[in-house]
Amino acid sequence: MDFEPEFDSRYRKPCAPCPMCKKHINHGELECYHCGYELTVYDIRLLKQYMRKQKYNGIWLALKVPPIAIILFTIYFLLFE
Ligand SMILES: [Zn+2]
Repeated sequence: MDFEPEFDSRYRKPCAPCPMCKKHINHGELECYHCGYELTVYDIRLLKQYMRKQKYNGIWLALKVPPIAIILFTIYFLLFE
């Protein structure tokens, strides 16, 4: 059976692009399941850095969105009062 990961689970797990085919592979994989490329220690280190950066981007986005929403809400009320 050919198993294609679900859209949902693929984006919830930390993942990074394969150095060979640029398709996303999940955290903890030792070889790319798209092209069969075996990851070297160096590749794994790069992928881990990429995943960490992605994680921080997610945290920053979560911190940035509520204040922007409050500002927009305030502007809306100032304009229509
Ligand atoms: Zn690959």
